[in-house]
Amino acid sequence: MKDSELKGKIGVTTENIFPVIKQFLYSDHEIFLRELVANAVDASRKLKALALSGEADCDVSDLKVEIELDESARTLKVIDHGIGMTGDEVDRYINQIAFSSAGEFLEKYKDQMSSIIGHFGLGFYSAFMVAKQVVIDTKSWKEGSDAVRWTCDGSPEFTMGKSDKADRGTVITLHLDDDSSEFASKGRILSLLDKYCKFMPVSIVFGKKTEWKDGKEVETGEDNVINSIEPLWTKAPSELKDEDYTGFYKALYPLEEDPMFWIHLSVDYPFNLTGILYFPKIKERMELSRNKIQLFCNQMFVTDHVDNIVPDFLTLLHGVIDSPDIPLNVSRSYLQADANVKKISTYITKKVADRLEEIFKEQREAFEQKWDNIKLFIEYGMLSDEKFCEKAMGFALLKNTDGKYFSIEDYGKAIAGEQTDKDKKTVYLYATDTEAQYSFIEAAKNRGYDVLLMDCELDAHFVNLLETKLKDCRFARVDSDSIDNLVAKEEKSKPEMSDDDRKALEELFKKALPADGEYTVEPENMGAGAEPVVITQSEFLRRYREMSALGGGMNFYGQIPASYNIKVNMENPLVQKIWENREDSSELLSQVVDLALLSNGMLKGKALYDFIERSTDILKGKITD
Ligand code: ADP
Repeated sequence: MKDSELKGKIGVTTENIFPVIKQFLYSDHEIFLRELVANAVDASRKLKALALSGEADCDVSDLKVEIELDESARTLKVIDHGIGMTGDEVDRYINQIAFSSAGEFLEKYKDQMSSIIGHFGLGFYSAFMVAKQVVIDTKSWKEGSDAVRWTCDGSPEFTMGKSDKADRGTVITLHLDDDSSEFASKGRILSLLDKYCKFMPVSIVFGKKTEWKDGKEVETGEDNVINSIEPLWTKAPSELKDEDYTGFYKALYPLEEDPMFWIHLSVDYPFNLTGILYFPKIKERMELSRNKIQLFCNQMFVTDHVDNIVPDFLTLLHGVIDSPDIPLNVSRSYLQADANVKKISTYITKKVADRLEEIFKEQREAFEQKWDNIKLFIEYGMLSDEKFCEKAMGFALLKNTDGKYFSIEDYGKAIAGEQTDKDKKTVYLYATDTEAQYSFIEAAKNRGYDVLLMDCELDAHFVNLLETKLKDCRFARVDSDSIDNLVAKEEKSKPEMSDDDRKALEELFKKALPADGEYTVEPENMGAGAEPVVITQSEFLRRYREMSALGGGMNFYGQIPASYNIKVNMENPLVQKIWENREDSSELLSQVVDLALLSNGMLKGKALYDFIERSTDILKGKITD
């Protein structure tokens, strides 16, 4: 055979293509396996198509792709029974096209090599990232074609001659490089097949299934198929039950709890996309993980970094997206500008919003039960995506401190009137902590007002958003002022006091307050029956402090110390007594101030201890009296 062997030089434009491939794709060497298996799968599917159309008359009942590893010889084979190649085709597809297209590719992107995602499918030639020699044995499905052997050691020199391969298909043999010996491991290959080939559309076989016999693991006669050829997203939603979706979720994320719900995506115009997105159950707030959506291209795993394809707030979802229309071989900046990618992103957002709206309308009770879990996604979506926000205003829920849920519109209607102030603004009262703000919530409820619970990380921003979206409204935390001022019904008379008296009142109360805070003391007329002292925190300053703590970019406010307003109710008899005997009322004063601090959860340490001691003394006095 030797004399019929052809020697040649591959028509490559960039002579040093392999060092370049190796260097730039260093971290991604493992994709060689995906590329070779994808080629084998393509060759199998092409044959199937030819057989279906009647063009090829061959048996296509068992088109499995096999991976064979010889750990000690360090050879890895990818075997298919697909269309194979004739000598001419090897020359055309392997010697000419592949090399020149890789060359073109490098030429085009040489200035931005480092920013390229690495998933650009160099195809067959990625084998040279891990192999010192690659051998192709192939026999075309076409009748009368001779089997061909092609050998190349990674230089642009190759040899091509006859092969003794008897059956149709292709065997790619890699003689692994010394510095790629990691791939001569069964475990490593298995995990790569699991990562990249789990859902490929042709059976992928790696060795035989094993079983335990007499305390030993032994091979059975059964093929170890590593993939499922018809993954759930390729099926029609009408064929699927809830268990199918939850089962698939469990297979993808074995450690996660069942998802809240899912959205089956399927579109074929103007782009092609299928997939299933799941809303995960979040146990701990903020324990959000991105990169849980897997991107596939015709059932071949590409990446789990979908940042530019899926809108930011949806990267918190889990699931799979499969689209041959997402360009995989380009840089991120290109991806962002790509028209198809933009359309895909808009489509996904709309689908998610539609599905949420559907559940809101048709399964209101279930939607309310799930709300606490999905609220974070939705608020994040509303804050970051204008289009989504528009739709979500219709189905987003507000929850009050009694655990009741309302749509935004219904809630507005429910509190209008009662909670509309003298300036015709509807005041949305809210609490962030039902324990700490208990006394304020009670005071509001006693007035017949309703109080919302806004205890989510994003609520500080969300409240701002609602204020801009809703007409004539204002949000106020229940402890940001006395209830009379929060929903001010009419202009109230301020206590008449001289400037000197005001100053004296301020001095008097400041002495009884903890030394480390900043206070403004204001005399008020709140009615004889109301609390003697109410401590509040400015809504404005507090909100900006919270937002800057969350990273709202307003650091200036983050540096402002917490400051409190001390509202002294001059109509309360206790205050009147303190004020009248201001020279000698320190015990009563301390007691009144401490009670106000206590109801704000601000009485701690020594101050709390002193309060208890003082109260006990007062009670003892009651007994001896
Ligand atoms: P791509 O797959 O992107 O076209 P490749 O470099 O991987 O680029 O392959 C080049 C061509 O070689 C393929 O388009 C195909 O025609 C041919 N080829 C590669 N592998 C096989 C195979 N296992 N069986 C048949 N043809 C193959």
